[in-house]
Amino acid sequence: MTAIRVAHPGADYDVLVGALGDSLPRLEAVAEGGHLPVISDQRVFGLYGARLAGITLPDPILVPEGEAAKDWPTLANILEQLAERGIKRGTPIIALGGGSVGDVAGLAASLFKRGCPIVHVPTTLLAQADSAIGGKTAIDAAGQKNLVGTFHHPQLVVADPAFLDTLDGRQLRSGYAEVVKYGLIDDPDFFAWCEANGDGLLAGDGDLRRAAITHCVRAKARFVAADPDDTSGTRALLNFGHSFGHAIEAVAGHRVLHGEAVAVGMALACDFSVGLGLCPAADADRVRAHLQAVGLPTRLGDLGLKEGAAILTAMLADKKAQASGLTLILARRLGEAFVARNADLRRLSAFLDRLR
Ligand code: NAD
Repeated sequence: MTAIRVAHPGADYDVLVGALGDSLPRLEAVAEGGHLPVISDQRVFGLYGARLAGITLPDPILVPEGEAAKDWPTLANILEQLAERGIKRGTPIIALGGGSVGDVAGLAASLFKRGCPIVHVPTTLLAQADSAIGGKTAIDAAGQKNLVGTFHHPQLVVADPAFLDTLDGRQLRSGYAEVVKYGLIDDPDFFAWCEANGDGLLAGDGDLRRAAITHCVRAKARFVAADPDDTSGTRALLNFGHSFGHAIEAVAGHRVLHGEAVAVGMALACDFSVGLGLCPAADADRVRAHLQAVGLPTRLGDLGLKEGAAILTAMLADKKAQASGLTLILARRLGEAFVARNADLRRLSAFLDRLR
């Protein structure tokens, strides 16, 4: 098991990457001999709920699968069920599932009795490599992705790569888009590692999965420690591909997975950077080639979307459209992303209009 410490001003925490069995003593220590509420979805709980039976209450709080969990009714239901179970303030809550379970469970934990600790047991590649770390919680509302949320850092994260053995190929690839992102932000060597090992990772190689998760967790820990509340601009780099991606999700709805939207978003961010004369076209081509090689979409048309103009409208509505203008994360080259404030909307509109 590898333990990665995430430095955070409130309280540092560990991300344990390895077999769940090896991490159980740490989970038992959190439970202090009691049984904790667990939030999961039917599929994940059916597969893995029993593995936590020694430390969790027998009746899980189940949410809908996928993005559908991130809405007001689900959040309200979780809070009511925590109350029905007589959960006391300060009782740790366990989130067992992918990023959607983690996002809504983390939000509920931050609100219930003004805050209960959250322990993430992520079960998707996306959640193990990215979303379970960093404390961002959210639901979607008013047609906007992640409109309502809090920062609520976990007490502990336990990521067992063996959980990925039951994840279907599309979900795996979706999570892999966030893995590739870490190469594109500031680590061209890791992008080259992805080019060499992406196929093996997706095909089921446990050592490669573990290596990628560990690498991404370390990278995310670095960004989170430098900018815990996402205010200085450092952490914003983690949103590479997300300004376009969130807009794509808002337009396409739940039929597009988060990582698929991010994959297209990263390719578009590279293309737009090339159009502005910021990034070599060869770098953008290399990014698109790798994403396509592993079966990820890279164009709006790959997702069945035609209307670039609708994407711009959604981008302007996204919470990242600050009062001062639209902020994008663009690329100077492969492995060097930067925060571009006050994006030129005329050029962005022309760029999106040309897309199919
Ligand atoms: P998900 O949680 O939306 O859904 C995963 C699907 O796979 C569900 O149907 C689930 O039942 C199933 N599943 C999960 N684990 C499984 C397993 N081990 N075996 C079989 N099936 C399994 O997927 P996701 O990609 O993990 O999460 C996407 C969400 O994460 C998005 O809402 C995105 O916005 C959010 N996100 C949050 C952050 C953050 O910092 N908080 C970062 C990135 C993404």
